[in-house]
Amino acid sequence: MERTIYVIAEHACGEISPVTFELLAFAAQIRTFRPLPISVLILGQDVSGMAEEIAASEGADITALEIPELGNYNGEVYRQVLADFFETEAPALICAGHTATGTDFAPGLAIRLGAASITNIRGVAEHETRLCFDRSICNGARTARVLPRTETAVLNVQPGVFRRTGPVSPRPGTVRIRRTEYAARKLRCTGIRPSQADPGALSDADVVVSAGNGVGDAENIGLVYRLAGLFPKSAVGGSRIVCDRGWLAYGQQVGVTGATVAPKLYIACGISGAPQHLSGMSGSAFIVAINTDVRAAMMSVADVCVTEDLATFIPTFIEACNAAASGSKEEDHG
Ligand SMILES: Cc1cc2nc3c(=O)[nH]c(=O)nc-3n(C[C@H](O)[C@H](O)[C@H](O)COP(=O)(O)OP(=O)(O)OC[C@H]3O[C@@H](n4cnc5c(N)ncnc54)[C@H](O)[C@@H]3O)c2cc1C
Repeated sequence: MERTIYVIAEHACGEISPVTFELLAFAAQIRTFRPLPISVLILGQDVSGMAEEIAASEGADITALEIPELGNYNGEVYRQVLADFFETEAPALICAGHTATGTDFAPGLAIRLGAASITNIRGVAEHETRLCFDRSICNGARTARVLPRTETAVLNVQPGVFRRTGPVSPRPGTVRIRRTEYAARKLRCTGIRPSQADPGALSDADVVVSAGNGVGDAENIGLVYRLAGLFPKSAVGGSRIVCDRGWLAYGQQVGVTGATVAPKLYIACGISGAPQHLSGMSGSAFIVAINTDVRAAMMSVADVCVTEDLATFIPTFIEACNAAASGSKEEDHG
């Protein structure tokens, strides 16, 4: 029997998360090495509508596992239900997002299945006729190539790396719906609160200027706001460290546990480019990195790299822009 690549669909608030389509693109890339069938699993309380949508738009066969307990995500239920599902079939690969939920259930699932667990995946390749995977290490500054040595591997794939390429098959996929009971014994979600911050500000901006640990102290955040002020329709974001320190609000955090942005211009000020940050902004059309370390991972994804101390560069740049703007006004009047 042909062994299957399974994609675990991610969804939130009744909507399919973009990472689901990226996982299908990742699975399609694996098929350039191995022509394996692709199948999707979606778990939740009421997910048959989303299953129909994925089958129709992506051409993938899908099984919806409807479980009354899953009104909200619960890692214990995911691990148990998936372990039961895969008891009778050893898939080739199980693909989940390297997201808050994907990293919550996938490594534990791998332990139950006796499978290899590989997180933070950014690429797929072949090593001596075997599939292997590239994963980011050292905050994204290096890439390790990892070869699973088990029959099944459970993979967490970085969001923002694999772009949706279209349906995996020209025909609509089939939908199977299974209803399962499972009562969580160890944990339960008591509710979900919306964030206080306005998530629209970052996602609607044409230009996002983000502050990282390299700003040094809270006062230098003002520099980042001044830089953003040069651009209409701009917003200020930041890395997690900056939000943890309270220099910016959590609603401004960009990355896997923050906002995902894809502006026309992203300016990263003193941000190293950890995979968790890159996955929230790598869809930006043009990236500028200001960083004293030329080897920082952000420098390798940037279109323009400014190897300078931001505390010197940003005021000089703002001054030059203001001088150029007042010069052109004088010319207009003259
Ligand atoms: C489960 C999990 C989820 C996470 N989610 C997120 C997330 O959503 N978003 C996120 O951002 N992180 C997230 N992180 C944290 C992430 O791993 C990194 O720790 C974080 O992104 C690093 O932030 P940074 O780049 O600002 O700081 P650092 O890694 O400390 O980098 C600072 C950079 O500033 C440069 N620098 C220093 N001084 C200057 C100067 N004067 N001028 C210019 N450059 C300078 C340095 O060369 C360095 O490259 C997560 C981590 C985990 C484990």
